[in-house]
Amino acid sequence: MKILVQVIVDHENGDPAIIKPIVEFKREDLALGTLGLTIGESKLLLKNVQSELISQQVEQYIFKHKTCNQCHKELKIKGYTEIAYRTLFGKLKLSNPRLYACSCNKESKKRSFSLLSSVLSERIAPELQYLQAKWSSLVSYGMTSNILEDVLPMHANISSIFYTTHKVAKRLDAEISEEKYCFINGCENEWNKLPYPNSPLTIGIDGGYIHAREGSNRKAGWFEAIVGKSLHETHPSKRFGFVCKYDDKPKSRLNTMLQKQGFQMNQDIVFLSDGGDTVRDLQQNIAPYSEHLLDWFHITMRITVMKQMVNGLLPDNYRDQLDKQLESIKWNIWHGNVNKALDKISSFSDDCYEEELDKDSKKHKLWKYADEFYTYIESNRYYITNYAERHRYGEIISTSFVEATVNEVISKRMVKKQQMRWTQEGAHRMIQVRIATLNNELRDEFCRWYPNMNNVNDNQVLQSAA
Ligand SMILES: [Zn+2]
Repeated sequence: MKILVQVIVDHENGDPAIIKPIVEFKREDLALGTLGLTIGESKLLLKNVQSELISQQVEQYIFKHKTCNQCHKELKIKGYTEIAYRTLFGKLKLSNPRLYACSCNKESKKRSFSLLSSVLSERIAPELQYLQAKWSSLVSYGMTSNILEDVLPMHANISSIFYTTHKVAKRLDAEISEEKYCFINGCENEWNKLPYPNSPLTIGIDGGYIHAREGSNRKAGWFEAIVGKSLHETHPSKRFGFVCKYDDKPKSRLNTMLQKQGFQMNQDIVFLSDGGDTVRDLQQNIAPYSEHLLDWFHITMRITVMKQMVNGLLPDNYRDQLDKQLESIKWNIWHGNVNKALDKISSFSDDCYEEELDKDSKKHKLWKYADEFYTYIESNRYYITNYAERHRYGEIISTSFVEATVNEVISKRMVKKQQMRWTQEGAHRMIQVRIATLNNELRDEFCRWYPNMNNVNDNQVLQSAA
C-alpha cells in the first residue's frame, strides 16, 4: 500500500488551487515497527511541509512587493542572492531577488535593494531560537543538540545553540531598567489609596558558588551568584538571579521580579536571607513596608555544626554540658532573646577555651567557631525576630525554599558536573535564560518580541493531541 501526502495551495484569489506532493509512505503487513509513522518519516513530513509552506509564503511576498508602491510599475530585477534561513524543520535556501529602485522615486539614495532582507532581519526562526534557549537552559549544550536532532529534521550545531542562548540572555537583560538607589515611588498618602493587597510577599535570597574559568586557566576558583525567590499565596512564585561581580543592576532585577508578581507599594514584604552585605544592600529601598530577617535556616545550620563538633569531643571535655548550652542558645534565638543568647554564646565560647593552646585540637576549633558565631549573631541582631511566634502564626521563617532555588537555578545546570567551568559573563547569561524558563516566562517573552509568533500554549497542543 502507498500513502501519498499532498498539500493544496489555495491563494484565495479565484485561481485554481495547486496540489503539491509532500511525501509518500509505503506499508506492507501490519507490524509493530511499521504501525504509524517512524521518526524518520515524521521528520521528512515536517521538513517537506515546511519547505513548501515557506516557498509559497516567499513567492507570495515577492509577487506583492515587486512593484513600485507609488507608480505600481514592475521593478527590474538586478540579480539574485541567497538567504539561508534556519528553522525547526530544516535549513532553507531562499532566493532573494535584488531589484532596482523605481525611477519615479528621485529621493532614494539606493539604486537597488534586496527584497527579503528587510523582512527577514534575522536568519533563524524565532521558534528555533526559543527551543534552543529553553533546552540549553535546562541541560547542557551538547544534550540540547542531541534532543533537537533526535526529534526534528535539523542539524543542531552546538556553537549555534550557544550563540542563540547568549543572544536571548542579552535581550532579556537589556529589558531590565537602569539601576537606581531607591525603587520606592510616591508617598504614604498615595500608597494608602491603593487597594489593600490580600497577602504579603515573602522573598528569600541566598548565594551559591560556581566554578570559574578565566581563559585557559582551569584553576580560577569560584565566584558567587545570588539567587532569590518570591512567594505569594495566590500568584505563582518567581525567581531572579545574577552573578555578583558581573551584574550592574541587581536591585532593578529584584524590583522587576516584584513587579511581575503584582507588587504594590502598600504591600508588606518580608525579606529572609543570610547576613551577607551584598544580599542585605540589595533589599534596601525596594519597598516601604518591608521587614528584613535573618533566616532561621542559616542560624540552625551553624548550631548544628557546633553540635557535631561537641559530639566529636571526648566525654571528659564536659560534652553533655556543652550540648545543653547549645540547646539553650538555640532556644533563646528561636524566641528572639538576642541579648540572652549572646551572653550564652559568650560563656559557651569561654568554656571551650583552653589555656594550653593546641591549634589543631577539636576544642580549639570549636572555640574559634563559637567566636565567629557570636560575631554573626551580634552583627545581625536587628534582623533576628521571635521565630517561635512567626512559626506559630504559620509565617515563613526560613530560606530553605531558597536553598532549593539555588539548587534548581545554579547547581543543577552549572555545578553538579565537576568539569564544567564558567566565565562570570557566561554564567550570568545562563542564569537569566534559566530563570525565564523556570518562571515559565520564556515563551511569553518570545511572543512579545515576535508578536506574530503564535502564542499557542504547549500544554494546549499536548492536551488536544492526547
Ligand atoms: Zn515608481
